[in-house]
Amino acid sequence: MKPLRQLARKLADAAGQLALPFAESTAPAPPSARSGTRLARLNGEFVEYTLRRSKRRTIGLLIDDRGLTVSAPRWVAQAEIDATLQERAAWIARKLIDWRTHANRREKLAVRWEHGETMPYLGRRITLRVEASHTGSAQLDGEQLWIALPPGAGEEQIRDSAQGWLQQQARQLFEERIRHFSTLLGIGPTRWGLSSARTRWGSCNANGSIRLNWRLMHFPTEIVDYVICHELAHLKELNHGEGFWQTVGELFPDYQRVRGMLRDYTDDINIS
Ligand SMILES: [Zn+2]
Repeated sequence: MKPLRQLARKLADAAGQLALPFAESTAPAPPSARSGTRLARLNGEFVEYTLRRSKRRTIGLLIDDRGLTVSAPRWVAQAEIDATLQERAAWIARKLIDWRTHANRREKLAVRWEHGETMPYLGRRITLRVEASHTGSAQLDGEQLWIALPPGAGEEQIRDSAQGWLQQQARQLFEERIRHFSTLLGIGPTRWGLSSARTRWGSCNANGSIRLNWRLMHFPTEIVDYVICHELAHLKELNHGEGFWQTVGELFPDYQRVRGMLRDYTDDINIS
């Protein structure tokens, strides 16, 4: 996977169509295929960026899902911007690759809510089957999740049905695992509930109340167990100190490996 190379090829193609002369990087940035963006040639690779003129006093570089954005004061000449980009070329390349990897991860977790597509479920992939004649709520039969919807049901309807089912499964599984680990720990939560937080897998507050993200159902069971042990351990230690990790280790000896696994799946969702 060479994202920069791919990007360069894409941009070179676009450039070919427009028959633009791609000279040295010191030349004025040629207009690119997309309006509002420019091209820089960094270590032989074309990198597209958006230039924003701002009130800030220095040149700033930002890399996110939209790619590279350069913010520069109005009085800074293009040559100076070019020089900065050359100077930071290695950093830019590394960050762009990081984002690509990140996007790939997200894609791996993304589900297409269509008949015949698969979704990750407790470490395996199950197939979505939309069937009008199936009655009642969604039901798992072997590796097939049967969803009762009329023919031509939209992605949103399929998603809502499947996610409703996932939440129902989450309630049962989490309840069972919380009970199991609470017994080991000798203390349980005052209450617990599901969350749909986009940025958090689990949380525990000072009142001893625990929230667990039902999306954990997309992951292997050991990840579910780790997150539950993590939150339960907060019932004894509401911090991430040594004592806390010792408690996690007593409940779930293999936590370090599984913690790494969870980080591999998602690097932008936290556990607290
Ligand atoms: Zn925590």
